[in-house]
Amino acid sequence: MAPLLGAIADDATGATDLCSVLVRGGMRTVQTIGVARDVPLPEADAVVVALKSRTAPAAEAVASALAALDWLRELGARQLFFKYCSTFDSTPEGNIGPVADALLDALNAELTVVCPAYPANGRTVYNGHLFVGHRLLSESSMARHPLTPMTDSDLVRVLARQTPRAVRLVPHDVVRSGARAVERRLEELAADGVAYAVTDALTDDDLVAIGAACAALPLVTGGAGVATGLPDNIRRRRLLAPVPQPTAPPPSNGPAVVLAGSVSAATREQVRRMAARFPAVAVDVVDPDVDRAERAVRAALGAGAVVVHTASSLEDVARAQQRLGAERAGEAAETVLAELARRLVRDGVHRIVVAGGETSGAVVSALGVRALRVGREIAPGVPWMTSVGDPPLALALKSGNFGGPEFFLQALGVR
Ligand code: ADP
Repeated sequence: MAPLLGAIADDATGATDLCSVLVRGGMRTVQTIGVARDVPLPEADAVVVALKSRTAPAAEAVASALAALDWLRELGARQLFFKYCSTFDSTPEGNIGPVADALLDALNAELTVVCPAYPANGRTVYNGHLFVGHRLLSESSMARHPLTPMTDSDLVRVLARQTPRAVRLVPHDVVRSGARAVERRLEELAADGVAYAVTDALTDDDLVAIGAACAALPLVTGGAGVATGLPDNIRRRRLLAPVPQPTAPPPSNGPAVVLAGSVSAATREQVRRMAARFPAVAVDVVDPDVDRAERAVRAALGAGAVVVHTASSLEDVARAQQRLGAERAGEAAETVLAELARRLVRDGVHRIVVAGGETSGAVVSALGVRALRVGREIAPGVPWMTSVGDPPLALALKSGNFGGPEFFLQALGVR
């Protein structure tokens, strides 16, 4: 059966976050790494294509989104979703506006909603202003992001800089009145020639109302949060089972390896907690030795699980960056973990947890993984996934900041 929802995500861990929301809503969901036309996909209600287009040149981001759209339409997807970050990560040139413009054109659609709000993660929108926790986006740490500094919190203004089309607000009093009120406002805006309706949203109920109002739109855009309302639209049309489908069983067999390439505070604490219970292998980024790391991991696999990490402290990171420069140090860490993953899978390890967005991308690509069936959640936004192919691998890919201090232990089922 054709997927009911086809989604295009501008980065990999964001795609996984969206998958988690859809699975929670009872949709059988598959994530692919880019377009995977040649891969035989399992039956799915939703297919989420993970791109790496958030900070690519706009023309490249548009081309990859259109290629993904072509494929999702070939698969027969009935509704399209463009997923971006809940902090609206973009530059004055894009890529949210240019990609959304291209998708609207290709779908021959007049209007879509713009809803990055994700109250469960502290992202809310009021009077068109995006808040991160209690602070305006422009006063959050996102204002100093190295690639996409967000120095303006007014989403109508931010998006208007990225598109020639009209952008207008759907204020909170309309959203609070429910799905019908939002739907009517969207119709009015479309009649006025508006292409983008930025929706206020403060609560999960707001997201559900907005999601329900989007039932007939060919294209929905937003963070993972607004997808909360989409499975119910489909269920109302009796196209989806009334009770959530059982998701893929959690993987349980064989030893597991945790590869930590993120150096975020959250991941370092997760590594510390795991290392207190299981063997740990440290890789020196300045002088990486994959053979030695592989031998050390293999010798320790009898314990059932091993954690490999590239930094015990921020001093390790500073030292590596001083010696190699930030870019080469990052590449060195990613390369060694990715090669280690490849060798360990060859040696029979079939359960791998990766910490770090970029690191996850490097590992998945080294393993040649093109598509993943999404299973049960370990922590919000981080599900177990099973790769399509032989052998099927159980993978959990988390962005550095995700998960509580015992995340790795939870993933391994020992907490
Ligand atoms: P996050 O999700 O926390 O941003 P990423 O994997 O996206 O994690 O980014 C972390 C980056 O830090 C990766 O490029 C990784 O290779 C790099 N890195 C890991 N260990 C070190 C280290 N010791 N020194 C310098 N860079 C490192």
